Amino acid sequence: MTTDGPTSGDGLRLRSIPSVVDNDRAYWTAGAGGVLRLPFCESCGRWFFPPADTCPACSGPVGFRDTGGTGTVYTFTVNVQRYRPDLPTPYVIALIELDDQAGLRVPGNVVGCEPDDVKIGMRVEVSFEPATSRDEPDGDLFVPVFTPTDSGTGAESGEGRR
Ligand SMILES: [Zn+2]
Repeated sequence: MTTDGPTSGDGLRLRSIPSVVDNDRAYWTAGAGGVLRLPFCESCGRWFFPPADTCPACSGPVGFRDTGGTGTVYTFTVNVQRYRPDLPTPYVIALIELDDQAGLRVPGNVVGCEPDDVKIGMRVEVSFEPATSRDEPDGDLFVPVFTPTDSGTGAESGEGRR
């Protein structure tokens, strides 16, 4: 199967993302600066995800703030079914709990290691893959993904956190 998606000028495979809208644009574009930027409620003083026009907790005004981009694998699954042409299988879909705020979890692929090596509790940091949207083929868009850091095996022995 060689159903590769569109590629960027230097041959990198481009990820496809949904339409970018006002309340999530900062999330999809922050990768240009290598930063994981998430919606932040100015009233609660807390990040949340996914993006929304108002805070899901208090309906307060939303801005975007940079996170540190590091965290741990909270849970994950390995997908072996090829649903999308832009993602070779198998790939890991994980929920990452970020260090910036307890309970702040974002979805993302874990890359840079074999799917079998991904463990709950594993330390990861954000990196970015160039992306394209059908509406904005030339947009400067990026998909946040996560790569293992240091030992990459995590402190806990696997299945502890549920
Ligand atoms: Zn709020």
